[in-house]
Amino acid sequence: MTSEDVYLQPLVEELRELWDVGVQAYDASSKEIFQLRAALMWTVNDFPAYVDLSGWSTKGRLVCPFCAVETDSRYLRNGHKFCYMGHRRWLAVDHDFREEGMLFDGSNDTRSAPEPPVASDIIQETEHLVGRCLGRKCQLAYNKRKRGEEYHSGWKKRSIFFTLPYWEDHKLQHNLDVMHIEKNVMDNILGTLLNLKDQTKDNYKARLDLADMGIRSELHLQR
Ligand SMILES: [Zn+2]
Repeated sequence: MTSEDVYLQPLVEELRELWDVGVQAYDASSKEIFQLRAALMWTVNDFPAYVDLSGWSTKGRLVCPFCAVETDSRYLRNGHKFCYMGHRRWLAVDHDFREEGMLFDGSNDTRSAPEPPVASDIIQETEHLVGRCLGRKCQLAYNKRKRGEEYHSGWKKRSIFFTLPYWEDHKLQHNLDVMHIEKNVMDNILGTLLNLKDQTKDNYKARLDLADMGIRSELHLQR
């Protein structure tokens, strides 16, 4: 168990009790007391919380929990952040967008979608992380050691939910709460369309990065 999971430990303990033993509950229709059991089906969370619940890092190069180690990312030298433009591979093989490279990163995408990780892989890939200290000091020391090295995996820890006996049998463990994501996307689109200061994404760094990537020549800066 990791130090970050201290907030989840009481919840997981109660979930275990609900699964293993259950609690007495009253059925008003039959007027009988029965043993109520329950299982956690999945979590619904925003993207930043994804790392706390699933253990997969939602920052950096390998940000996508479904593309995992095959996440297609590119570091923007001027914007100083990663961008992720390789998700046309999840579209149907004959989807028009695959051929319309100029609307995206300049290239056509004929790749098939990667296989999303399954529970047995996750357990294997997080084996070395079980019990690792995730406190602030340990984390800083770990990042310092890791800096400069190639990232091989996005796992930060093994999710505490794997201590539930049924968790690895779930096909879908975590859902993203679309409401927050839609709001953030909409804020960015509106900020850009209305050209709001400090909110628009159309700034000189973005235009330099477009030139860097060799796409949208009509938007490159005129020096
Ligand atoms: Zn992805």
